[in-house]
Amino acid sequence: MKEKHLRQDIIDKCRHMNAIGLNQGTSGNISARHKEVMLITPSAVPYAEMKPDMIAAMPLDRSDGHYDGPLKPSVEWRFHLDIMKSRPDVNAVVHTHSTFATVLAITGRDIPAVHYMIAAFGGDTVRCAPYGRYGTRELSDNALKALEGRNGCLLANHGMIAAGPSLARTMWLAEELELLSKQYFHALQIGNPMILSKKEISGVGENFKTYGLQDKRDG
Ligand code: 13P
Ligand code: ZN
Repeated sequence: MKEKHLRQDIIDKCRHMNAIGLNQGTSGNISARHKEVMLITPSAVPYAEMKPDMIAAMPLDRSDGHYDGPLKPSVEWRFHLDIMKSRPDVNAVVHTHSTFATVLAITGRDIPAVHYMIAAFGGDTVRCAPYGRYGTRELSDNALKALEGRNGCLLANHGMIAAGPSLARTMWLAEELELLSKQYFHALQIGNPMILSKKEISGVGENFKTYGLQDKRDG
């Protein structure tokens, strides 16, 4: 995708996540890999006012906070950059303060395998990273650890992160993580949710590799 289209796509995804209630106000932030740079939303700019040239570009071979652009990058640039540097499989990161993911994160708990869709995140849990203050290296280190072998995590007393191979897929993961959190939250109200086994989730993960692929048909 051309850089200018990717910049617009980031803004479209920001507006989408607020429109569907996945995020609110200027909370949350989105980044995407483009060649040797990471494109990331500027800090504290209302999404309705965001323009493609306001998106900051940060070189992936630096870690000093250097950026090109007219506005400061998101205060969370560090975890976006650290994730993209250490995870070649990740090309986009979405961070939100979505309600149900944040409610679970406030209780500091991992999400267990309460629904088979958890396999979309790469394992039988979605971990909750311990609390670190926003924008800090501590938060980034905690998030990176919680994301090991996973495409999403919760951030204690803060929100969640989804990280995936494309912006579209990552937004889908963020929406799925919020839904999974909502389902787990409601199941906790009734009590004693049943948890699927590790083996079952790894089987579902295998099946997901061919899910949605139709056999070729003639004509
Ligand atoms: P930014 O507006 O700087 O992206 O910060 C929002 C946020 O979610 C901080 O954790
Ligand atoms: Zn945040």
